[in-house]
Amino acid sequence: MTNETIKGGLSRRQILGWAGGGLAAGLLPLAGRADDKRAASISSTSSVALASTGIAGKRVVVVGGGMAGMTAAKYLRLWGGVGLQVTLVEPDALYTSNIMSNLVLNGSRTVASLQFRRDALTTRYGVVRKSGRVVAIDPLSRSVRLADGSALGYDRLVLAPGVVFDDAYGLTQADYDTRTPHAWSAGPQTTLLRNQVAAMRDGETFVMTIPKAPYRCPPGPYERACVVADYLKQAKGRNCRVIVLDENSTIQAERHSFETAFTQIHADVVEYVPGVSGIVIDAASKFVRYADALGATQQIQAQVVNPIVPHRATGSAPGGWLAQSGLNNGLNGRWASVNVLSYESTAAGREGIHVIGDAASCGMPKAGHVANQEAKICADAIVRLFSGGTPDPQPVANSACYSPITASTASWLTAVYQYDPMDSKMKVAASGGQTMINGAPATATEASSINSEHFKDMGTWFKTLMADTAG
Ligand SMILES: Cc1cc2nc3c(=O)[nH]c(=O)nc-3n(C[C@H](O)[C@H](O)[C@H](O)COP(=O)(O)OP(=O)(O)OC[C@H]3O[C@@H](n4cnc5c(N)ncnc54)[C@H](O)[C@@H]3O)c2cc1C
Repeated sequence: MTNETIKGGLSRRQILGWAGGGLAAGLLPLAGRADDKRAASISSTSSVALASTGIAGKRVVVVGGGMAGMTAAKYLRLWGGVGLQVTLVEPDALYTSNIMSNLVLNGSRTVASLQFRRDALTTRYGVVRKSGRVVAIDPLSRSVRLADGSALGYDRLVLAPGVVFDDAYGLTQADYDTRTPHAWSAGPQTTLLRNQVAAMRDGETFVMTIPKAPYRCPPGPYERACVVADYLKQAKGRNCRVIVLDENSTIQAERHSFETAFTQIHADVVEYVPGVSGIVIDAASKFVRYADALGATQQIQAQVVNPIVPHRATGSAPGGWLAQSGLNNGLNGRWASVNVLSYESTAAGREGIHVIGDAASCGMPKAGHVANQEAKICADAIVRLFSGGTPDPQPVANSACYSPITASTASWLTAVYQYDPMDSKMKVAASGGQTMINGAPATATEASSINSEHFKDMGTWFKTLMADTAG
């Protein structure tokens, strides 16, 4: 068996292309709706027979067990084989998926139904799991320090720590936790926001804000506006308002679907306001002030405020552990710039440190499906490097995203990205591989209609992606 194949003769490129392609389904959702039980029943604790690839005595530490980190840990073992020791460092016992978490807001999902164990990474692939939080990196001795004072040495380090949220618009972290939740990292804030929305009465106003791109999940805020508008119409009456204050000048993803949703399906409830600036929010009174696109000051008395505040790579704030290592060298120190052939940091002297998922600045959207793809490209590159080779010079990635528009309908967006050696970037490619069509960049493809079939497909896509990520 060569480095390019795993059991059954599948190439790494084939598996990468499947992008959540249902290889195995050992990832257990803890609780949930009836259809979640299927995932539990097809889970397995049997061990995968790992190949002997010729790699021996190498150690990779993966920091962060979210979408990117879980995928990286799994595929490093699967492709690197028995001689590659992989340790996953993660503080939380369970992973709570952000994907589908907008459906908690209309009561059709619970946060518990979005929680997953990481057991299969250990039982199937032999990933060593270490409970803890990384607080420092020493690139010279090639080790990371954890909050409990312990240290882990590595030959290569993969950072997948996700994002943290700024204090913004006059709000603090305590406000997010208790009064004005961003709920942009699924968990207790999602439940708080659900309870606030459920307590609204007919005629009341929900205000949400969207930060300037790049932010986590480009279609996610517009999707949330639709789900909340639909719920309020159905449950409270037709006089509620959902006001979307967007710091961007236009809808950032699935423009056709969301314009249809805002101007037709939810036109009676949603008011979309692009190009806003100077947002100030009073957490106690729920009073929101902002400047509109023409610079005129506007104000709204809301009952529920959902500020999706600006965010950045975890540890990248001044003094943070990522910043102290100089790894926050992308976009005003907020993200980590990487070489997209390997996801190795482009910061000087930081060879052997890779950054994947939302924390990375790589030209592709910050999304769970994309995080899964980045992790596979990174794992493939590390395995090739340990084997004395070089990273694949022509990586391809894909992304799919479903957006619920009502409680039973959805739209979707999909794109294939391929490496453009002219400017060392991943770019959207049309079918046939062209990144330029008639002189304009190729674009992602979105659903031509919003319907219940897409909603059903969304459930299948989610299960498959989660199974591929850590099952
Ligand atoms: C409402 C919403 C809907 C979304 N819908 C979609 C969708 O439909 N499709 C899609 O593709 N994407 C979607 N996303 C985006 C997706 O959830 C993220 O892009 C994805 O989770 C990013 O993966 P990640 O691994 O980079 O970060 P995360 O999944 O956030 O994982 C980061 C992990 O790092 C750990 N960590 C942090 N700091 C440390 C440390 N110091 N030491 C050790 N561990 C640490 C955290 O505990 C966490 O487990 C959505 C997001 C939201 C908010």
